[in-house]
Amino acid sequence: MLVAVVGGGQLGRMLALAGYPLGLSFRFLDPEPDACAGKVAPLVVGPYDDLGSLARLLEGAEVLTYEFENVPVEAARWAAERIPVLPPPEALAVAQDRLAEKTLFREAGIPVPPLVRVDDLASLRAGLEQVGVPAVLKTRRLGYDGKGQALIRDPADADGAWRRVGGAPCILEAHVAFQRELSVLGVRGRDGTTAFYPLIENLHGDGILLRSLAPAPGVTPELQALAEGYARAVMERLGYVGVLALELFERDGELLGNELAPRVHNSGHWTIEGAETSQFENHLRAILGLPLGSTASRGTSAMVNLIGRDVEPGRVLSIPGAHLHRYGKGIRPGRKVGHVTVVADDRAELERRLALVEAGMG
Ligand code: AMP
Repeated sequence: MLVAVVGGGQLGRMLALAGYPLGLSFRFLDPEPDACAGKVAPLVVGPYDDLGSLARLLEGAEVLTYEFENVPVEAARWAAERIPVLPPPEALAVAQDRLAEKTLFREAGIPVPPLVRVDDLASLRAGLEQVGVPAVLKTRRLGYDGKGQALIRDPADADGAWRRVGGAPCILEAHVAFQRELSVLGVRGRDGTTAFYPLIENLHGDGILLRSLAPAPGVTPELQALAEGYARAVMERLGYVGVLALELFERDGELLGNELAPRVHNSGHWTIEGAETSQFENHLRAILGLPLGSTASRGTSAMVNLIGRDVEPGRVLSIPGAHLHRYGKGIRPGRKVGHVTVVADDRAELERRLALVEAGMG
């Protein structure tokens, strides 16, 4: 059974690695000839909106999925006339526009920071009066890992912030003094069955995920249930099939919706070793109409991204419970080239092992 995947990055590569034991095969589409999924499966090299390339990607495939959210929606709709495209293209459309995303959150009953739509400098100035400072100006489209964002501390900074985001359509939202960032990963099958992984605590630097802890420490059953309810509401509204990540801010026991990713997610990489079924396998099970696997955690896990640097494998692999994933990508500043997951039976042991991993990363 062939799975066609738009995007050939590390998420696609890990999807394939999870799918091979199930007897699946894969084909990827990516404009980059050296896309790292191409080292584990055939790669069609071409633009995402090129119908010829898409047609070659789809040939003989059972289902089409994607591993990043900026897939042109028109291309996904074109493919959906030919084979099942899961998650549905509508999920892409929402995830590509921060205003549509926050509107969906509100409709699904998920609290969001106060926010306004900004189309020009005048609406930015008016928005700052409404939302107050500090506030974050975010481009509606093509923003990820903190790109296309400007923090505004003083209304007099409006002009500079507008220039920094390139004068593109934006949302302006209140800066949230959260205690921590959490994410919840849900999976929904073709028959509407859902399952949820334990809440994950995420540490970011410059908008890029540095580290995840799973299950997040100190989560009450009530908080877990709240997060699951939010993720379920989003998935049901979208008629979603596959894995979805919902990024949340925790503030005084409340959860605010920040962002959704209609795909497997960096904060779920720990599930490869730290959960009964990995997010990658569960995504494949969902889109192929197979029974979902248990999302229960096995002990406690931490995941550290390798950003713009590699590690000495011998140092990491000498640490008990440590697992090294290298994506086969060239090293460039700010680029995610791998990750290390460390698992342990209890939190104290996890902290000890994590300290060794981080020391080993120098
Ligand atoms: P985003 O691309 O929206 O996920 O933003 C990247 C990171 O910027 C988030 O993970 C937060 O650490 C931070 N951030 C984004 N929006 C806000 C906000 N309204 N208040 C505080 N921090 C924010």
